[in-house]
Amino acid sequence: MAPSPLREKVRTRAEDRPGVYRWLGAGGRILYVGKSVRLRSRLLSYFREERGKAARMVAEAEDVNWDQRPNEFAALIREMRLIRAWQPEYNVQHKRDRRYGFIKITREPAPRLVPVSRVHNDGASYYGPFAQTGWLTQAVHDLSLATGLRDCPAHTPIHFGDQLEIFSGGRVPRCIRGDTGTCPAPCAGRCTTAEYNRRLRLACAFLEARSRAPLAELEDSVTAAAAELRFEYAATIRDRMETLEKLWSHLSGFRGQMENLNLVYSVPGYEGDDRIYLIRRGRPCADLPMPKSSRARRRANEAVEEVFQPVPGDRDGRLDGDAAAEVLLTVSWFNRRPRERERAVAPERWLGGVVVGSGRRAG
Ligand code: SF4
Repeated sequence: MAPSPLREKVRTRAEDRPGVYRWLGAGGRILYVGKSVRLRSRLLSYFREERGKAARMVAEAEDVNWDQRPNEFAALIREMRLIRAWQPEYNVQHKRDRRYGFIKITREPAPRLVPVSRVHNDGASYYGPFAQTGWLTQAVHDLSLATGLRDCPAHTPIHFGDQLEIFSGGRVPRCIRGDTGTCPAPCAGRCTTAEYNRRLRLACAFLEARSRAPLAELEDSVTAAAAELRFEYAATIRDRMETLEKLWSHLSGFRGQMENLNLVYSVPGYEGDDRIYLIRRGRPCADLPMPKSSRARRRANEAVEEVFQPVPGDRDGRLDGDAAAEVLLTVSWFNRRPRERERAVAPERWLGGVVVGSGRRAG
């Protein structure tokens, strides 16, 4: 049974308005973070739970607190950032949209390409989001083959040829790719760190839509296979090329898509706390009160100009875990609520004086 002081605290102090709440255990440990557009109702509903995860959590909780937010979008951003920062035990995972996936470059001695639907603060790089339609796994596999990156499990021991080792002889590749030449076999000391990193750079350049070199190499392989009358092999390579062409077209399309995620998004707030959110390449970077005078508009314009200044590396498409999670949140938010898109304008339009949602110019 939940301790009644907590229920009393919620009943007497919480308001039915958007916000983020935290259930706290012994020593202030965060057990769970959630958001709601009606904080008070949501929190009181926990005390009616008699079994299951919510009931267990409330029984364990020693306190509950909350922050008010002006609107649901703000609450969603705050919830996501808190969950990523604290990883509360009752938030098994942040609610995520499984329709999207990313290509991750792992942070390992011999990095791999991996298709993922979750992003972490693990120092890895992420490319995406891609529509998760099953083809991504094949595309990642084909790109690994085409660039010569390993695709074996993370725990595979790696021994580069330039590593100083007392017992280094006699190692054999741990899978057939080492023998067929589609992997330089860093598991068997058959390539140096520099050789492997050269292949990694090849894959990165492709993922950043800067170089089609892996496709050009496949083209050469097809020509050579056909000349040697190895038609079956040539057909396999052609299939691979088709998948990589599709991946390339997504990757080159990203540049435009990310520019479309430069937005000044106006959101009506609770009790008139209307805000604008400056969303830069899919990441909510800043928010400020909706300007209601020409002086406030000038100040808002200064903030817009500052946030949307070009930054080196902007266009390479590489994201860290936090950036990837925030881009995904923004994409999912607008895809699920297409009408909200009408409240958002490109920064240039905002600076040109457009009043969001009306097509008018600010006076
Ligand atoms: S050859 Fe070795 S490094 Fe390459 S994929 Fe196979 S097990 Fe991994």
